[in-house]
Amino acid sequence: MLEQLTGRLTEVKQRIDSAVDRGGHDQRVGIVAVTKGHGPEAVMAAWEAGLHDVGENRIQEALVKMEAVEQPVRWHLIGHLQRNKVKWLGRFHMLHALDSERLADSVNAWAEGAGTIVDALVQVNVSGEGTKGGFAPEGIEREAERLRGLRGIRVRGVMTMAPYDAEEATLRRVFAGAREVRGRLLDAGHPAEELSMGMSSDYEVAVEEGATCVRLGTVLFGAREP
Ligand SMILES: *Cc1c(COP(=O)(O)O)cnc(C)c1O
Repeated sequence: MLEQLTGRLTEVKQRIDSAVDRGGHDQRVGIVAVTKGHGPEAVMAAWEAGLHDVGENRIQEALVKMEAVEQPVRWHLIGHLQRNKVKWLGRFHMLHALDSERLADSVNAWAEGAGTIVDALVQVNVSGEGTKGGFAPEGIEREAERLRGLRGIRVRGVMTMAPYDAEEATLRRVFAGAREVRGRLLDAGHPAEELSMGMSSDYEVAVEEGATCVRLGTVLFGAREP
């Protein structure tokens, strides 16, 4: 697994570098290795290949792997979090899907009770698809203000997902929209430098549009179990 991953990673890094050049945003791009659907050995291989940030979209699956993996990887929760599971955030480096006011309030209440601060990305639904979670870009100023009152959450940036299989023009519009939202969070005083966008099928366009973090599964580890 490691040998194959190393080869794929070399190509992905080259593609990211080229995309940064084309896009002109001059940003650094981190890779979150998405290991959902694969076993703990994928996490260990990621670590060996130099990928120290790992993404999982379900708490239960992540907890099982955390038990099995000794390397001090940084775990990212990239999927929707149910409010009755916020206590598990203590195990994660970053929450990528802060997607509703109710979730924000629950995360904040837990963090204040635990005496900690959760680093989180605000998920925005730029495309307006009903199946996607997240805040609408239109309401973001008000939300940015509200989030400033939640001392248990540190807003580190924005996360978005583009429609699956969309045309390039649509991808660009969605990713540029997320970049604009990040600007408004920064204007509101949040330390919101991160722009988490881009998956296996669209990361090059995302990087061209300024992504600082791409979440890659298939392109690194191959097809996964559903
Ligand atoms: C699964 C997943 C990814 C990675 O998807 P690939 O297409 O396999 O790269 C990225 N982000 C989120 C939120 C995911 O759930």
